[in-house]
Amino acid sequence: MSTKNSVPDWLLSLFDDLNETYFDGKLERPFIGIQPGSMPTKNAWYAYVPYLESRNGPFAAISITEEVLAKGRDYTSDTLLHEMIHHAVATLYKEDHASHSKRFCEIANNIGARIGCLRIVPGSVAAERWPQSVRLPSR
Ligand SMILES: [Zn+2]
Repeated sequence: MSTKNSVPDWLLSLFDDLNETYFDGKLERPFIGIQPGSMPTKNAWYAYVPYLESRNGPFAAISITEEVLAKGRDYTSDTLLHEMIHHAVATLYKEDHASHSKRFCEIANNIGARIGCLRIVPGSVAAERWPQSVRLPSR
């Protein structure tokens, strides 16, 4: 597949920009990686381990597929923002981050109101694919 997956600087800067804009800079930057190729039903994944002995603290990771990066900056930004909400649920609220819960939807809907998205409800397919699933066509 690809050579060593180096994470482009613009992706790290994008995280910092989105963090400032939508999370008041409160998120710590997790490990950000590139997943080779594509995944059947996902654009990206988020992992959170509350305690890792080797690190004396939590470990968080966001991985985005090469396929997403190839779709350009806006699509990548949307995908990263989605994973950042999972990260916020895990680290700011200390709640279950794995599902598209009430908390996930609350954060997504607050951001969605600013970026032109229809509202989502917990557990829906639209929530799984937020914000691409509900973005209004005026971008
Ligand atoms: Zn998700």
